[in-house]
Amino acid sequence: MDCDVIVIGGGPAGLAFVRGLGATGLKVTLIERQPVAALAGAADDGREIALTHRSADILRDLGAWVHIPASSLSPLRAARVLDGASPFALPFDPPGGAPDRLGQLVSNWRLRRALFAALEGQPGLKLRGGTSVRALQTMRRGVEVALDDGSRLRGRLLIAADSRFSEARARLGIAADIRRLGRSMLVVPVEHERPHGGVALEWFGHGQTIALLPMAGATQSSVVLTLPEDAVARLALAGTAALSRALTRRSAERLGAMRALSTPWVYPLATVWSRHFAAPRAALIGDAAVGMHPVTAHGFNLGLRGAARLAAAIAMVAGRGDDIGSASLLRGYETAHRLAAAPVFAATDLIVRLFTDDRPAARLARPALLRAAAMAPLRTGISRLLTHH
Ligand SMILES: Cc1cc2nc3c(=O)[nH]c(=O)nc-3n(C[C@H](O)[C@H](O)[C@H](O)COP(=O)(O)OP(=O)(O)OC[C@H]3O[C@@H](n4cnc5c(N)ncnc54)[C@H](O)[C@@H]3O)c2cc1C
Repeated sequence: MDCDVIVIGGGPAGLAFVRGLGATGLKVTLIERQPVAALAGAADDGREIALTHRSADILRDLGAWVHIPASSLSPLRAARVLDGASPFALPFDPPGGAPDRLGQLVSNWRLRRALFAALEGQPGLKLRGGTSVRALQTMRRGVEVALDDGSRLRGRLLIAADSRFSEARARLGIAADIRRLGRSMLVVPVEHERPHGGVALEWFGHGQTIALLPMAGATQSSVVLTLPEDAVARLALAGTAALSRALTRRSAERLGAMRALSTPWVYPLATVWSRHFAAPRAALIGDAAVGMHPVTAHGFNLGLRGAARLAAAIAMVAGRGDDIGSASLLRGYETAHRLAAAPVFAATDLIVRLFTDDRPAARLARPALLRAAAMAPLRTGISRLLTHH
């Protein structure tokens, strides 16, 4: 064997997983398509991640939190969900006086850089950037991968963290339910007239969904606008002035006039549920296992939790000197992570189906549903979902 663990994909899930093995002394090779410099200096991708307190704790344990400047954190005090033209807002106001009661928003590029910085000097870690896997084969005692650069690598365990469109997942023969939604998300930071007060807004309008995420600075937010793919493509090319006008109108001036602060990013929407999270000598983590719809802001949080869970299980087994790629270890991870992910995935899917369905019956049902959700037990449940994953 050339190493103990081969990890494909240096996104947040892959980096967090590798860091979680830091104290084990295991030899880990991380294969990433982008050059290593692009991981160290991850570029802005427009994503503002709503980080739960639990995720912040995991990042602290991994030694990544210290690499995120406090001034770049945007506390999330509360959230409101609105439907169509109805004035009713479903509030999420967790008790307590802290400004970050619902968590905090952190730019995805900062999280990626922080996780990468935490890997500095990790013993036994080899980074193979600028290459990807051409073929892979699982054997009884390990796995062999062939890389684009012609080299081959053998390890005892393979971890696929190569995004929701994971090629490694397909090569492992794991099927996945992939739903392309025919809609895209346009993401752009904006300056607006009225202060956001640390409150996130999710507004399911007819024909569009718009989220306003409060950023550091009282009058800056990240706008996440979901529309059919062609409408988003047109808007993305419209130029800053036209985009600013469109966002002001589409947000119904809730925060006053808006001014786009950069060119927007566009993400075509697809959700993924892998039929298995493990195969002989291999496991899927992050979006490669579950690609969530971003509307409930759970993908990163769930991926981080799964990566940390698997790394902790491997560390325990390695400490005993047992097989880190055993079927029982991988089955244990698969069962626990599926149990954690299934309710969040199903709830998110239900919300997307209900609130983006513009047929009259669905429109009529929504106000009653929102009011029902406002009832104490249900709202507590949703709050828990929002803050604990
Ligand atoms: C607009 C938007 C907003 C979001 N907001 C939130 C939020 O508020 N909260 C939240 O929890 N989540 C959010 N998410 C989801 C979150 O961004 C993802 O869940 C998270 O990035 C998944 O991390 P990952 O490491 O699994 O995959 P990725 O981030 O996709 O990283 C995969 C990595 O693998 C590499 N790779 C791919 N293929 C190969 C290959 N063949 N060989 C080698 N390397 C490869 C890629 O270069 C990349 O570095 C949002 C997503 C979007 C699109």
